Formats: sequence, structure tokens, C-alpha cells
Amino acid sequence: MKKYYFLLLFTCITLAVAAQTGPARIIMIGAHPDDCDQDGGGTAILLAKMGHAVKFVSVTNGDAGHQSMGGGMLAKRRIAEAQEAGKRFGVTYDVLDNHDGELLPTLEVRLQIIRKIREWNADVVIAPRPNDYHPDHRYTGVLVQDAAYMVAVPNVAADTPPLKKNPVFLYFQDFFQRPNPFRADIAVDISSVFDQKIHAMDAHESQMYEWLPWIGGYLDQVPNDKTQREQWLASIRAIKISPEVRSSLEKWYGKDHAAQVKHAEVFEVCEYGTRPSEADIRQLFPMLVKK
Ligand SMILES: [Zn+2]
Repeated sequence: MKKYYFLLLFTCITLAVAAQTGPARIIMIGAHPDDCDQDGGGTAILLAKMGHAVKFVSVTNGDAGHQSMGGGMLAKRRIAEAQEAGKRFGVTYDVLDNHDGELLPTLEVRLQIIRKIREWNADVVIAPRPNDYHPDHRYTGVLVQDAAYMVAVPNVAADTPPLKKNPVFLYFQDFFQRPNPFRADIAVDISSVFDQKIHAMDAHESQMYEWLPWIGGYLDQVPNDKTQREQWLASIRAIKISPEVRSSLEKWYGKDHAAQVKHAEVFEVCEYGTRPSEADIRQLFPMLVKK
């Protein structure tokens, strides 16, 4: 009974905040149908639970990501996996029909991305940085940067109304050092939803239990049992919190809370698009509360 009351109270508060400011609209853009999941999935779950609208977009259809299947059959399988993952995350998941492993920063794909950001009426856009080992990730970063001003220009992709306000653009975390290392500007505590994130990622069976273990040389470590698989996935997908990320958590949540955080997702603010103040970031990511 008590639990129900608190749930009701929480829902009322969430709705009141949403009514006051309108729900935030976040679009995460990755190269493959599992990229947003790893880099922003926990944050997406938290935002969706608070009543905000989150969309994942995969710029390619994933049709190269397997050791024994490919082409249209694989693309279909990966689209179905992405739809199931989207349900588990509480987000909508779009997969664009560009070939995996062959993505180039062309005008055609740039226009596809401009339209996606506009159609979602995005307040926040999150994408990879344009330096990465994988060319699809790298060019997704370039493509989103190339869209970061054009989303507001009416004569570009004129069939889709331009955004009235340029969104905030953020980068997903990576570990590349050149030309400059990632900066942990925003840190989100995802400890409370880490298990749900892993359960959602488990929907990408062709990747989590087949392709990535095969290309990584650890296929023999994948358990057969479904429950054991998720536990194993959690163990290999947990990212150790670095001192830099811990100090970002302290900034956003306060020292005591930051010390307790087991899992976090981190974002860097892009120089393009709207440059958010600390207050803007706290409004767009309402889970960031100093305690
Ligand atoms: Zn990828």
C-alpha cells in the first residue's frame, strides 16, 4: 500500500514537472543497431521512466555484423532485435537502411539525419565523437556534426520543417586519446537500472552472444543458459568508473551519492548546437539532483 502511494506521488510530481516544462525530447544516434544501447541505454531508461521521449536511431541496418549470415536476412534479424530492445528500454528504435561497414558521410545520409532530428523535434542529440576505430562510428559522428547547424536552416531538406531552436548536441563516451581524450561533462548514475539495461541489450542476440564474441575471440565463454547469459553479459559490459567520471558524478549528485554509484553513463558537450548552462543540463536530465 505504502509503495503504491509513493509511486502515485512520484507519478504526480513527474507529470507536474512535465506539464511545467514539457517533456524533453532526446534522440540518440549510433552507427549500428546496438550502439546507442551500450552508450546511452541506462540514461534512456531513466528519462523514459520520468515521462520524457527518447528515440534511438541506427544509421546502418547492421547487415555486415555476423560471421555466418549477412545481407537482407541479417538486416531483418537485427531490425527485429532492435525493436525488441526498444520495447525493453522504453524507447522507439529506428533503423535506417544504409549498409553496415560501408557508411560514408554523404549528403544523402546527412539529409536523412537532419530529417530524423527534425521529425523528433529534438531538444538533445547524442552521437559518437568523430574519432573512432570503426569507420561507421566515425562517419556517424561526422554526419551528426554536419547536421548540427543545418537542422535549423529552412532551405535544407525543405520538405521537413526546420527546428525553431538548435538542440543541445552531446557525445557518447569513448576511450580514444587522439586528437583529444573524451571529457566527462555530464555523468548519469544508472546503477538503479543497470540490470534493465543489460536485459534490453540481451535482445541483440546476434551481437551479444554470436558476432561480438566471435570477432573478439571469446565465443567459447558464452553460456548456453538464458539467465546465465544475462549475468555474463552484465559482467563484460560493466565499465569501471574512472576518477574523472567519479568527480563528474560528484559535481552533479554531490560527494556522498557519487561515492555509492556502481554504474554510470557519461557525455561530453559538443561545441556545436546550443551550448547548455548547468541549469539547462539539470532541466534536460532531471535525474541529476544534488543530494
Ligand atoms: Zn557499432
